[in-house]
Amino acid sequence: MTLALGCIADDYTGASDLANMLTRCGLRTVQTIGVPNDALALPDVDAVVVSLKSRSIEASQAVTRSREADKWLRAHGASHILFKICSTFDSTDAGNIGPVMDALRADSGDDIVLVTPAFPGTGRTVYQGNLFVGSVPLNESPLKDHPLNPMHDSNLVRVLARQSRSRIGLVDLAAVAKGPDAIRARLAELAKQGAGAAVIDAVFDPELEVIGQVALDHRLSVGASGMGLGLARGLVASGKVTPASSGSDHKAIGGPVACLAGSCSQATLAQIAQVEKSMPVLHLDPEEIVAGEAEAERALEWARANIGKGPVLIASSSTPDQVSALQAKHGRDAAGHAIEQTLAAISEGLVAAGVRRLVIAGGETSGAVVDRLGIPAFLVGPEIAAGVPVLRCVGWGKGEAVMALKSGNFGGPDFFNDAIRLMP
Ligand code: ADP
Repeated sequence: MTLALGCIADDYTGASDLANMLTRCGLRTVQTIGVPNDALALPDVDAVVVSLKSRSIEASQAVTRSREADKWLRAHGASHILFKICSTFDSTDAGNIGPVMDALRADSGDDIVLVTPAFPGTGRTVYQGNLFVGSVPLNESPLKDHPLNPMHDSNLVRVLARQSRSRIGLVDLAAVAKGPDAIRARLAELAKQGAGAAVIDAVFDPELEVIGQVALDHRLSVGASGMGLGLARGLVASGKVTPASSGSDHKAIGGPVACLAGSCSQATLAQIAQVEKSMPVLHLDPEEIVAGEAEAERALEWARANIGKGPVLIASSSTPDQVSALQAKHGRDAAGHAIEQTLAAISEGLVAAGVRRLVIAGGETSGAVVDRLGIPAFLVGPEIAAGVPVLRCVGWGKGEAVMALKSGNFGGPDFFNDAIRLMP
């Protein structure tokens, strides 16, 4: 296998979003959970996205894990690596974007690296180095109140300069609009001035295509799924990748199908209400979950009695008031962890009962389930909803299986049935 593109993603659902984007652009893509073990046999693909959980851990650990992923990807032929970050630049002054970027750049030998979280398809644009979320600057968006990485500065040149040991420059929209050679000239000028990274403006997809083309001159870039779009289109346009049609090799799995929801987002709550009309739904009791293991056993008994008849959904999801009440009583982290682990235990029981088609709602919930089931990698298939693909397990000891992992607010009102329809 010689990879045309290697990616290192700092969280699992962001990795799926990127893998989905690459697949839509025609790259056959595998998403791995962590750095693959040498024994893992991967299908012949154009891109591998290594998913890490490195966004909010200690910077030195994030650097170590990212360098391991980089080494694996380079050893499998990737001449360009995208370090995939969140399109809202989730980070703090301690990192982890700057420290990981510095380390990967040193390993790559590049003198300067292009950086942009722009992803116009989801309203993330960058102008004069300032990140906008929809119509407002980052520091006025809901990200200003993020529990882990509150973003108080929309100027990414400043934000990155606080995290990185390198000087940070700007390639502005005027240079981008003039085309690839103007960007190259500006980068050369910045590198000469001692900059190790350049934030680059992008407002529309065609700009990302120009940026992707220039980024491919280098060995490393930093960005979100929008940068993935630019790189993928650049690889196809240059003939380095012959586009594949997504999902063509996805054969049916069959057998029982189950859905699990741990997301309490408005979209998920509405999707659960909708699906109650068409399948049996078990609502878990969050107090019972915090109290012990009996609730998982109750859920599995119920599932075993129902999965033979058709799809089922098991949900811990509750309304914001109920979530706040539970958190106030048990602590936010303890309550969240107990529920994630209970849903992971239920997923294990469902697999033992023969389920090989699973739909999971919730980013953290998905991470807990995938880790518990020990799934090493996924081949990315057709798109169920924007940013949510069907994932076919690769190299899993339990055999053939498909999953859909949805982060909170993704998907249309009938998401669960939409997913099941694409998971025969
Ligand atoms: P999302 O993608 O919507 O953010 P996540 O799975 O990432 O969903 O996060 C939801 C969090 O809420 C998880 O930690 C989950 O365990 C927790 N949770 C689920 N149900 C409840 C509940 N009823 N009360 C409190 N917390 C809950």
